[in-house]
Amino acid sequence: MTRWMLVITAAAHALVAQTPDWAKIDAETLRHFTKIIKGVLDQEGIESKIFTMENFSDPSVLRPNLIARIKGNGKKRPILIVGHTDTVGVDAKKWTHGPFSAHRQDGYVYGRGTLDDKDNLVAAMMSIILLKRQKVALDRDVIFMAEAGE
Ligand SMILES: [Zn+2]
Repeated sequence: MTRWMLVITAAAHALVAQTPDWAKIDAETLRHFTKIIKGVLDQEGIESKIFTMENFSDPSVLRPNLIARIKGNGKKRPILIVGHTDTVGVDAKKWTHGPFSAHRQDGYVYGRGTLDDKDNLVAAMMSIILLKRQKVALDRDVIFMAEAGE
């Protein structure tokens, strides 16, 4: 084996070693993301539970769903507000800013899922937080769900 072949072989191994398993990273990211949401709700005194489900395309991957409920007086049926935490895959080379950077520029937040569906997810979460924090008298339960699968 020539010196160049060794260098090329070493470089090829380095490339392979640097290629992330995006499916696993996606699942890991969802776990962390859900824990962050749960931590925020805990700080606000809103009880939540996490239910896991198998990923339909890979049953070995468990995906977390979070559900929180604040109580109303029961006069009306509960309402469910939902956002999904999963996103499509990412090709970092196509991004102006890192897909996991949450880089803020010119009034935009750059990041995977910022338009679908973390914006709706955070809006729904803030709705339940503000209802609780402002002690709004509710005629119905309000249920917030952060679902892992769209
Ligand atoms: Zn979506």
